[in-house]
Amino acid sequence: MVTDQLNSIIKNSKNILLVSHINPDGDTLGSMCGMYSLILDNYKKKCEMVAVSKIPSIYNFIPYINEVKFIDELDLSREYDLVINLDVAAIDRCADAKILFEKSKYTINIDHHETNIGYANINVIEPKAAATAEVLVGLAIDLGWNISNETALCLYTAIVTDTGCFKFSNTTPKTMEYAGKMLNYGVDASEVYKNCYESNSKNMVLFQSYCVNKAEFLHNDEIAYTIVYKKDLEKYNSNGEDFTDGLTEKLRAIVTTEIAFVVKELSPNVSKVSMRSKSVDIAQICSALGGGGHKLAAGVLIKASPKKTVELILEEIEKRIYD
Ligand code: 5GP
Ligand code: MN
Repeated sequence: MVTDQLNSIIKNSKNILLVSHINPDGDTLGSMCGMYSLILDNYKKKCEMVAVSKIPSIYNFIPYINEVKFIDELDLSREYDLVINLDVAAIDRCADAKILFEKSKYTINIDHHETNIGYANINVIEPKAAATAEVLVGLAIDLGWNISNETALCLYTAIVTDTGCFKFSNTTPKTMEYAGKMLNYGVDASEVYKNCYESNSKNMVLFQSYCVNKAEFLHNDEIAYTIVYKKDLEKYNSNGEDFTDGLTEKLRAIVTTEIAFVVKELSPNVSKVSMRSKSVDIAQICSALGGGGHKLAAGVLIKASPKKTVELILEEIEKRIYD
């Protein structure tokens, strides 16, 4: 049984590193801190946690988030007994933490992305789970782990953010059941909502309005996209915060939109695409270009200018959807 293996590996490992994905979201952070909390309470040992890019400040309320180290603070030549990746769809999604992952004695990959190929020694991948945290709640139940209030807050937050507050189509009866269990451990749902959705800076909201305002529309408004240029971002935002979180959903919110995407310029020849759909499978579109994700929420990093990236994406959409 995979749960028995998981239990004995965690029990026998002294040095454990928990890894989150690049551009961390509520699921990877909540799952990582939730796992930290579970291991602390149930095995009485402290893990290390690593982030490979800036943690959005709205997530500062997640328990144990202050324990997370930035990749620069870790010794990349170190050999851990165990590295656990959480919500990391592909090994490249954890940037330089990949070096520590590959050197580790054992590796575990806990995730819910359909495109995850199972790159670790032990893989717990449930594509039907709405969030990696949903997979974790299942594991905690199977293993009879004690769930503290801190753990519950971490995991509930992860489920809330990956389901857009239980409104995305990935929300199932099981998602609600597990989230409900977390409320039983004393989580305040309305506090979590406020922290995740009503804590944005004024500049972020103004910036997103600007981006929506200059969006382009194609195919009778079925395709909506906008480009986020670095210089525009810097004008609104001086502290390096990610101002694009939730922007793609704003374009999908338009009644005619089938596919929405945001192209963010990271450097003149590197662009990050965040894509959302109402029904068509966009994981295949992003996978074809080297990325991945879920049927209705996917992304890809492309080594090209924003304009060229738009061309590549539209080409793929034309070929796969409108041909
Ligand atoms: P987001 O638009 O929120 O950044 O990402 C949406 C979904 O697509 C997430 O579930 C994320 O894991 C996946 N995703 C985003 N970017 C990439 C990428 O570059 N590669 C892969 N494999 N998946 C991605
Ligand atoms: Mn996730």
